[in-house]
Amino acid sequence: MQLRIGIDLGGTKIEGVALGEAGRTLARLRVPTPQGDYAATLAAVAGLVERIERETGRRGTVGVGMPGAPSRVTGLIKNANSTCLIGRPLQGDLQALLGREVRLANDANCFALSEAVDGAARGAAVVFGVILGTGVGGGIVVNGRVLEGANAIAGEWGHNPLPRPAGDDLPPPACYCGRAGCIETYLSGPGLALDHARQGGAPLSPEAIVAGAAVGDPACEASLQRYERRLARALAGVINLLDPDVIVLGGGLSNIPRLYERVPALWGAEVFSDHVATRLARACHGDSSGVRGAAWLWPD
Ligand SMILES: [Zn+2]
Repeated sequence: MQLRIGIDLGGTKIEGVALGEAGRTLARLRVPTPQGDYAATLAAVAGLVERIERETGRRGTVGVGMPGAPSRVTGLIKNANSTCLIGRPLQGDLQALLGREVRLANDANCFALSEAVDGAARGAAVVFGVILGTGVGGGIVVNGRVLEGANAIAGEWGHNPLPRPAGDDLPPPACYCGRAGCIETYLSGPGLALDHARQGGAPLSPEAIVAGAAVGDPACEASLQRYERRLARALAGVINLLDPDVIVLGGGLSNIPRLYERVPALWGAEVFSDHVATRLARACHGDSSGVRGAAWLWPD
């Protein structure tokens, strides 16, 4: 019987999971991420794999999900917010340490894969997974496989411009990537809070804005409606390009129940089709999607 080990290498914690038959969780461990220390990070990942294999008494395949991706040109990590990983040959170093092939993928891709294999998009051919959290990420899965792309950035949609900016979208908020008006600047949690404040609202957290809208606060309700219209426009662009069967939302803002009714009611006006069959679904595996998807990088 195959043991699939998934590792989610996050900025604050490293989580490991072991999946057995039919995706059943056999072990789950987490340790804090050594801050700014590459060698200690490698050792922490290897330590988790060893502990999981000791607990389960079996040797497993290893998949690792992380922010960023290996460069197609150099194999070195790029775009990672855990900056000690940038420019490092993470895959090669882990393979040497663990004595086996290791598969590495972007964490948004792992999220999409997890939901496509046995989550909210189970059985769907084309899946777009979106993380709406501190940042905005995306990943594409086609027929159960992550689509990585020629530049290893397939699905990276957060730094596209928000489509058709007008009225209260302007001026476009500055983005850390050096541009302005990126989808992430409107649709991340900090983006929602910033927008609420820009429109004259009190300085509130995203959670407080959502809670305010739920009890009828007019300013919070208006902010959430702007958020829904922008999300609908941004996802309509994805539907026009990729035409996915299912779009799965994860991350903190995916916990807003009304998105799943309101956004599909709005996106029809923006999609170049008489009918939109694409389903908008909430992630099944919650915070575990990333680590489960890393394990599923070894499907067979
Ligand atoms: Zn940007």
